[in-house]
Amino acid sequence: MKLENEYIALTVSEERGSWKLLDKRAKVVWESRLDRFGEVSIRTGETFKSVPLIPDYVTVEGSSIRLSFHDDRYGRLALNVTMKLKGASLEISYDGTGEVQIESLTLLDEGLRMSDKDSAYLLVPVRLGLMIPSDSGLEFKRRFGTFEYEGCHMEMLGAVKNGGAILVTWHDPYVIAEVKSLLGEGGQSLSVSLIMCKTARSIKIHALGVGDFNLIGQEYRKVAKEKGWLVTWDEKLRERPQARRLFGAVNFKLWTALARRIDEDLREVSVEVKWTFDEVARIAEHLKEDLKLEKVLFILGGWIRKGYDCQHPDILPAAPECGGNEGLKDCARRVQRCGYLFALHDNYQDMYRDSPSWDEGYIMKHPDGRLRKGGLWLGGRAFLTCSKRAIELARRPQNLPKVKELFNPDVYFIDTTYAVGLYECFDPDHPLTKWDDMHWKQVLSDYARDLFGLFGSECGREWAIPHADWFEGLTGVSGRYYHSLDPRSFGGTVVPIFEMVYRDGIVMHGKYGYKFEEAAEYVIHHVSIGRTLNYHSIGPHLYWENDRMEELPLPPKGEPDRACFTRAHNGWAEGMCLTDRFIKNTYEILSPLNEITSRMRLTYLRFLTKDKLVRETKFGEKVKVVVNGGEESYVLTSDLGGRVVLPPFGFLVESPSFVAFHALSWGKVEYERPVLFTLRSLEEKPLYRSDEVRIYHGFGDMRLSWRGDIIEVKGEIIR
Ligand SMILES: [Zn+2]
Repeated sequence: MKLENEYIALTVSEERGSWKLLDKRAKVVWESRLDRFGEVSIRTGETFKSVPLIPDYVTVEGSSIRLSFHDDRYGRLALNVTMKLKGASLEISYDGTGEVQIESLTLLDEGLRMSDKDSAYLLVPVRLGLMIPSDSGLEFKRRFGTFEYEGCHMEMLGAVKNGGAILVTWHDPYVIAEVKSLLGEGGQSLSVSLIMCKTARSIKIHALGVGDFNLIGQEYRKVAKEKGWLVTWDEKLRERPQARRLFGAVNFKLWTALARRIDEDLREVSVEVKWTFDEVARIAEHLKEDLKLEKVLFILGGWIRKGYDCQHPDILPAAPECGGNEGLKDCARRVQRCGYLFALHDNYQDMYRDSPSWDEGYIMKHPDGRLRKGGLWLGGRAFLTCSKRAIELARRPQNLPKVKELFNPDVYFIDTTYAVGLYECFDPDHPLTKWDDMHWKQVLSDYARDLFGLFGSECGREWAIPHADWFEGLTGVSGRYYHSLDPRSFGGTVVPIFEMVYRDGIVMHGKYGYKFEEAAEYVIHHVSIGRTLNYHSIGPHLYWENDRMEELPLPPKGEPDRACFTRAHNGWAEGMCLTDRFIKNTYEILSPLNEITSRMRLTYLRFLTKDKLVRETKFGEKVKVVVNGGEESYVLTSDLGGRVVLPPFGFLVESPSFVAFHALSWGKVEYERPVLFTLRSLEEKPLYRSDEVRIYHGFGDMRLSWRGDIIEVKGEIIR
């Protein structure tokens, strides 16, 4: 059986139900499994039976092919699958009649096959996005559940084979993508399955023609817009113009002011005051006055009554050990007086048995009525609050309204809302499907956002874009790209597809602490995506009084220097502590870059070396970044810098009003060791004809080739 239009030719085997899709523009064929259409899982009492889907008959009706299936072994099962061509896309959907209960149905069954002989890869939207090549020589199988933790953060998958790109989309949280790589005699075979449960009934395959991940990102953006999830700053700023203050702001988090550890049996194990509220304010003042940081999103955790995580949702008064309500009020005022956005960290997902408000009625239930447990955190064993009831807790006068009245933070952060997967609740008083859970989490976000003005939560999902201003965790975790996922186990490379789709509508950072002296790769990753860093590993009290002062020894010449951004010899932050040197250097690179590009799309990514470690990104039309994640130097030619040599962890940022580089050669000067400089026009004019250019020198040789001269920059100058 065959369907055809100007973009696609689809053939379906009448005997087996297998199919082939020819993308005519790219001249690339995408195939299903050869022996069957798919598979259905049927529930019979307590067990599940798998039934392969091989059609009884296949018919063509207009622009659709219909496959009919039946099976009577476990009760009457009757199913129809429709494959419908519409322009360059093929929609595959199913409907079932009959008596058996369908647990799941695999609509795409080890499909979109790619081999190591193809030049091919899959693109999975896990966090920023992961490119999985078909010739890694690795065997693996992994499920990426829609909106799960390190699952699919967008409802899509991409694939590229021999120059042709394809995009698969769906719109339902009950879809699981399973990626499988097998090594056999015929070589490597990479495929993907889409397992549909409950309300999930259809997928779409878009044949995009000739292209790569850039085209996939562009095309998915259109789908995101249709769903209503692409809301850009142009729209958002109309309602909350203060969100502009997030552009260029670094994420500085004190974690956590009061740390009280409670064990599984609700016994207190330890109590530690890491910062009093006065110390918190003094740290903000230090960043402002000593480090001269202008744009900071200043976040405080562990300010609540019993310390972070303890006795949620009973948060007030502010921790007495740290200074109580009066102390936090004063702290908030002082942080805001620095011109910083002040954010408080809260949680409405976890509830603890020792909280005064503890009531099982708030807790999510398993199908058998058991309470749904959360993690074992500082506060002891958490139980998960049903999201439909969490909003009631947040709205209580003693919760968010009182926080607003007392401390008036600029931004509110409710932890885990966008991090954990969507849950179901089986409490008959407040049942939830995954769709309902998404809805109530959006309601909670909207409530906090309307009350405080700006709102953020952990990690981030596309369904949260219209309800939030800030995601913390999507760009990286603990100084790495992922939390538990290891890209190397897939031979994978991060491709920031989420940025390509949603960049110009959300602020994003990484989460958790990391060692500044080992963070060079994390830094250049953030340079390449134009995002500011998260600084979450801050020592207790006035951290600069107890921090390391001297620089780490330089590695042997030519070897990668993972501590490079903590250096300040001859530079601006010379004589300051390691934490401050790292913050200052990375702030000076990333804050202006992010400020300039926050409302731009990430329009283009290209790998400049075969190992994909040197990459170039473009924002809008005029901002270009090249970063070198390889172990050798990389040479390129630039408009302003001429021949530029990037050492390992080197980079070059070029835009009309801002230039930054970590390089061994720029302009007419060749350097013995890598240097860090940034140059910014302080006028509306571009750099090359600006009368006021601020030049910042991070470390290394102070000489800079500037407008035909060689000048010396000590710290910073304005020219
Ligand atoms: Zn519930």
